Amino acid sequence: MSLDKVIMDINKIEKKYSNLTRFNRDLINVNPLQTAGRLTPEAKRSMLEFGDGYSVCDYCKGTLEKIENPPIKSFVEEDFPNFIGSDYSRITHGAREGNARVMKAMTKLGDSIIVDGNAHYSTIVSAQAAGLKIIRVPAGDDPGRILNVEDYIPLIEKYNPSLILLTYPDGTVGNLPDAKRLGEIAKQKNVPYLINGAYAIGRMPINMTELGADFIVGSGHKSMASSGPVGILGFNEKYKDQITEASETYPNKELGCIGCSVRGAPLITMMASFPTIVKRVQNWDEEVAKARWFSEEMETLGMRQMGEKPHNHDLMQFITEPFYEISKIHPHKRGFLYKALKSEGIVGLKHGLTKSMKISTYGTSRNNLQKVLDTFSTLLDQYSN
Ligand SMILES: *Cc1c(COP(=O)(O)O)cnc(C)c1O
Repeated sequence: MSLDKVIMDINKIEKKYSNLTRFNRDLINVNPLQTAGRLTPEAKRSMLEFGDGYSVCDYCKGTLEKIENPPIKSFVEEDFPNFIGSDYSRITHGAREGNARVMKAMTKLGDSIIVDGNAHYSTIVSAQAAGLKIIRVPAGDDPGRILNVEDYIPLIEKYNPSLILLTYPDGTVGNLPDAKRLGEIAKQKNVPYLINGAYAIGRMPINMTELGADFIVGSGHKSMASSGPVGILGFNEKYKDQITEASETYPNKELGCIGCSVRGAPLITMMASFPTIVKRVQNWDEEVAKARWFSEEMETLGMRQMGEKPHNHDLMQFITEPFYEISKIHPHKRGFLYKALKSEGIVGLKHGLTKSMKISTYGTSRNNLQKVLDTFSTLLDQYSN
């Protein structure tokens, strides 16, 4: 290849990659994946400070979780466990990596795992990657999809699983099943119990010990105002040895994270946002009240909320039949809703989806949510006959 060619290619890739931008982050965003992952000012500052690769490793003596500057050690050993009611914690790259770590540590190839019918796809994929037999506890019919945790009992008796998992809440309709009751069941049956709290930790108060769980995972980029990928795994004394098993060759390197996990800025953003996280979960009742108000207004417009009613979480899915009807006659077809919202400064709905939508009201003011409702209402007035 000639030098000229290389220089031309560099111009091209510079043009493409050197000035990446995103939509204005001040827009109203209702995407459930994103509402609680937006950075705090503290996290934004820390991201610049620690943006360089391996930036947290200046004073590392071989184990990430023992680093004292920045204070990763006290975060992992004291402050985060206190926050979620666990004995110990470990940094992960996200909720899925936490789930996968527990599965790998607690099971052997061919073992059974029981998971709720509303489990996230990554739970299923993790179990498949670990070579597990997956048994699902069916959730109820639409639109409620209510899970009765008593249904775990006969399946535990039948399959003698190495682990049971509950998604709390699930990421589809935002239901919060009776995690505490499942904790009692797990104890009675002496089966290790993992809570997937990807949509819980960082949004709402949650305590692993109170719920009777042995493990809990959270997602920094989903629910803890972190850039990610980053997450947390909490666990209790009982299974410490399994979770923290180290390499025979390198005794300060744990197997479950391949020796080290998040070695840079994403972890620092989670730590920088931690004070805000601790404070904001105290505001959960207002978040729930706001979600319920929004849901009622949506139903007044002819939409139907799925999942528990009244709802107990900011993540909601609505059946939006009236919008589907409009999409059949609108010049922009299925894209009409996305376009109409965008022009009002509202983002976060999946383009082309009109039959149903997932919305999170987390951290968005009632005024801004009213603007979303007004935009919906105007569209309905314009195109319904
Ligand atoms: C988003 C989500 C995940 C994945 O979270 P990551 O931190 O990105 O791995 C897992 N489970 C549930 C229930 C989720 O909603």
